[in-house]
Amino acid sequence: MFEIVFLGTSASAPSVHRGLSSQVVIHDEFRFLIDCGEGTQRQILQSNLGFKRLNRVLITHGHLDHILGLAGLLSTFMRWETIDRLEIYGGQWALDRIYDLIYGIVLRGARPPMDLQLTQVKSGLIFEDHDFTVSAFPVWHRGPDCFGYLFEEKTRRPFLPEKADLLDIPQGPWRRDLVAGESITLPDGRVIHPDQVLGDEQPGTRLAHVGDVGRTDDLLQAVQDVDALIIEATYMHDEAQMAEQFAHLTAQQAAELASVAGVKNLILTHVSRRYRERDILAEAQAIFPNTVVARDFDNFQVRRGVFTKVEPVREGNSQRPTNNV
Ligand SMILES: [Zn+2]
Ligand SMILES: [Zn+2]
Repeated sequence: MFEIVFLGTSASAPSVHRGLSSQVVIHDEFRFLIDCGEGTQRQILQSNLGFKRLNRVLITHGHLDHILGLAGLLSTFMRWETIDRLEIYGGQWALDRIYDLIYGIVLRGARPPMDLQLTQVKSGLIFEDHDFTVSAFPVWHRGPDCFGYLFEEKTRRPFLPEKADLLDIPQGPWRRDLVAGESITLPDGRVIHPDQVLGDEQPGTRLAHVGDVGRTDDLLQAVQDVDALIIEATYMHDEAQMAEQFAHLTAQQAAELASVAGVKNLILTHVSRRYRERDILAEAQAIFPNTVVARDFDNFQVRRGVFTKVEPVREGNSQRPTNNV
């Protein structure tokens, strides 16, 4: 299961109700901040997420509405909050700009307040843990080195307790080792192999995030069949020429991609304050009904086959699923 909390959903400039681009993807104890627009640290506070374990930042590209918040975040880490390590991933162009921002403006010769790593992203795997991976894929936007990110749970074979019971396998470490894929020898001398108690492979949840992007034909493979696609929808169809000129998408284009790629759920973000949210939603839903337009502090849980909106954490609600959307 992946959880996503939107911290900022506005394109280019903030509005009264929407901050600049930023969101957090959560998987177990792992948190990935994707982009860090100006004002993100205050959104983090209001979301109740806090700064703990917020030590991986994935940058989609180097435009200012996606990176300026890193300066404030670093400044706060220098005085108030502590974190051992901060890893910032991005394309080279974005990293060059982030380097100037952090080392030229914020630090100016001072030491970073933590072990600070700037890691250049190239297409392919960028992070792996025992049950999920994060990989990057190129997207086309103004400027070079723009990336989308794909979060994938690994396929797993479920443990079948009824089979273990039939084989008289005791509770405890024997079952744990079988779940881990290891053969075991029982006290009575029998050898049991994982195949005897594990079911067929089940694919894991897949979540794709695409930041600013100006075309979709080269994204088909990367987002094929994902359980949820988060993607920008800066413009609406009546301004398609502007979208093309500035290398952004219309809501219609985003919905067409979701439809053609077999996406299960579409989450639109990076929306312009010139439109009404319901108009953006209507344009996309006419093509792809399973669409939502993200608002700041929206929180979604994505599981294979299940897409749930959770009450916003901001208003002090406990995180309980409310309705499937
Ligand atoms: Zn942007
Ligand atoms: Zn941009």
